[in-house]
Amino acid sequence: MRKYIIAGNWKLNKNSREAIVLVEELKRELVDCSGIDIVICPPFTALESVSDVLVETPIALGAQNCFWQDSGAFTGETSAPMLKDLSVSYVILGHSERRQYFNETNETVNKRIRAVLAHGLTPIVCVGENLAERESNKTFDVITNQCAGSLAGLSADEMKKLVLAYEPVWAIGTGKTATPAQAQEVHAFIRQWLKNTFNADVANSVRIQYGGSVTPESAQGLLSNPDIDGALVGGASLKAASFAAIVKAAAVPVKS
Ligand code: PEP
Repeated sequence: MRKYIIAGNWKLNKNSREAIVLVEELKRELVDCSGIDIVICPPFTALESVSDVLVETPIALGAQNCFWQDSGAFTGETSAPMLKDLSVSYVILGHSERRQYFNETNETVNKRIRAVLAHGLTPIVCVGENLAERESNKTFDVITNQCAGSLAGLSADEMKKLVLAYEPVWAIGTGKTATPAQAQEVHAFIRQWLKNTFNADVANSVRIQYGGSVTPESAQGLLSNPDIDGALVGGASLKAASFAAIVKAAAVPVKS
């Protein structure tokens, strides 16, 4: 059985004071959620203050990106050892906003994944098609290309240490959630790709989150599918009550 993982991506929201307020609220809302991995990913500038509040809680800390070099003349970048120093344990990589606005490619995502794994952090690797690609029936080609490129050269053991997130770009921040059937279809495809490319053990072990306008209302329908192992939540993670309701939805779904 794969453990559910619900992660909140705060994107470019919340300064360090606002972040403390939100995370204190979350701590109160999420007292009784054992059995589910919960991760929050504030902006870099709030990592330290949030890290202090999360000490001795079951909520893990994540970052929204990470550079592949440990140190050096790379102005503006943040490295895996720096994140680890703040008790970060997860890093979102290859988010579609990074690919779209910051020219990230499968190759640079691959370098980031390797660096993050080398320092014992868990990458959350995002893949997903845009609307034009879905409408021209290219979804599976795009997913195959992103998985093959981003995960190139990783060993089966390394694969078992990461989390994947299927995030259809047309569903991110748009209020248009993929239907549970649409999401399950792509998750099953990714799992089969993992089996063909690595082995059955990797396919059965890797957790695949769904992301794209997940709300408390849509969470349970998505999470009850056999290949959907959690959610990567953007907008709804900025309110303690809605993020907590999504986490609690993971506590009840019955896999079909
Ligand atoms: C995301 O940023 O990964 C995301 C899924 O955002 P939203 O939930 O707002 O669509």
